Amino acid sequence: EAPAFVLGVRVDRVSQRQALACMEQMVTRRRTNGEPCQQVVTVNTEFIMAAQRDTIFRQCINQAALVVADGMGVVWATKYLREPAPERITGIDTLIELAKLCAAKGYRIYLLGAAPGVAEQARARLESLAPGLQVAGTYAGSPAPEEEEEIIGRVREAKADILCVAYGAPAQELWIRRNIVRLPVAIAMGVGGAYDFLAG
Ligand code: UDP
Repeated sequence: EAPAFVLGVRVDRVSQRQALACMEQMVTRRRTNGEPCQQVVTVNTEFIMAAQRDTIFRQCINQAALVVADGMGVVWATKYLREPAPERITGIDTLIELAKLCAAKGYRIYLLGAAPGVAEQARARLESLAPGLQVAGTYAGSPAPEEEEEIIGRVREAKADILCVAYGAPAQELWIRRNIVRLPVAIAMGVGGAYDFLAG
């Protein structure tokens, strides 16, 4: 099914189940064929507004491997346009469902970003929501370009499959896009304030 375009911003018309199946395939493809890292974006209404002014951000979303409708505002917009996305797929739900998938399949998740200590608390919460989850590592770091080498080295050492980046939008999406060709993971996804939510 062709994606919807809400004010020029792509939204894939997938259910949460389909989005997860797609992400599982990304991990399998990297593990079996060494496929490059794929970017997943959870688009909410703020992203769509920000992407009106910021064409780089818009391109970044529109060229991602998977773009899901994060919030009812985006789902309503696709319905209004008669290109309906089937349901909302919030960033936090995606992270929790992804954690459960990782626990079931033995995929390793890395939690990058947020204030120091927050990702560790989010890790504990995710481990209780998804028993058996293997968190490959956590690191606050910063989206500053000088830190990219260091961060990518840490993620490589940790042998992660999935990298979650909590640097806020659009910084986290642009960070992923800038580094995508050398990210040593199957999937990289911006998760905004998700660790704060899980830790809180
Ligand atoms: N953040 C960070 N470094 C930065 C900017 C933001 O680690 O330079 C973190 C911040 O601590 C928070 C998350 O990024 O955990 C952004 O949360 P926010 O709710 O502002 O983002 P949104 O969900 O609106 O994209």
